[in-house]
Amino acid sequence: MARALPPLALAYHGIADVPLRRDPSGLFVRPDDFRRQVERLHSWGYELVAFKELAERLERGSAAGTAALTFDDGLVDNLETLAPILRETAARATVFVVSGWLGIAYRWAPWTRILTADEVRALAAAGVEIGSHTAPHADLSAIGYDEALVELERSKRELEDLIGGLVESAAYPYGRANADAVRACRDAGYRAAGRASGAGRWNDPHDLPRQDMENGCSLVSLRLKRDNRYEPLMRWLPARAARRLVRRARALR
Ligand SMILES: [Zn+2]
Repeated sequence: MARALPPLALAYHGIADVPLRRDPSGLFVRPDDFRRQVERLHSWGYELVAFKELAERLERGSAAGTAALTFDDGLVDNLETLAPILRETAARATVFVVSGWLGIAYRWAPWTRILTADEVRALAAAGVEIGSHTAPHADLSAIGYDEALVELERSKRELEDLIGGLVESAAYPYGRANADAVRACRDAGYRAAGRASGAGRWNDPHDLPRQDMENGCSLVSLRLKRDNRYEPLMRWLPARAARRLVRRARALR
């Protein structure tokens, strides 16, 4: 039998057809690319589950072959574009919502907006796990334990009131957490939380690593992320060579 597939969590933002020149931070993945990524994960043998479920399987020691698709910030395309693709492909996913941002223009791409309260409810009704991304998108690694606890408790309560169900997963804004933030997240009652850019560790459910999925991410890059080789490679390569490699991988897509 082939080597067991490593557990995997992927961190997306929007699913929309946006050219790279309009998306300098790479926050939007094209719907066709996203479909191909889901197909590839399935063809490798992954089961795609909610983030909370991935954390539960890790605790039981049975997370091999399990992957979680996660989406930060709560963009409206998560309901309009992502949810239908999830239904088509029978994949589960988790959307991390900033409870203080509902219905407003998106800070990093003002041509789109954040889900409204009704839309968050519709997403939950569609079977998507709703998680917290704090109330004000605070950098929890910079504000200390007490304030982090307040923010995490507040967004949990606000989102639970909104969907009429439990909110048990969180994603750290900017992917950043320190020991205080991780402790605050556990004390606020979450069962699982994730960072980004591969940072974190698999043996702490409140400090789980997620791999960033950016606009133009190729299937070659997805393979490197799966094996946790992407971030080390990007750190090691001189910037120009890394950009060339990514461009070439894109052309191959
Ligand atoms: Zn965010």
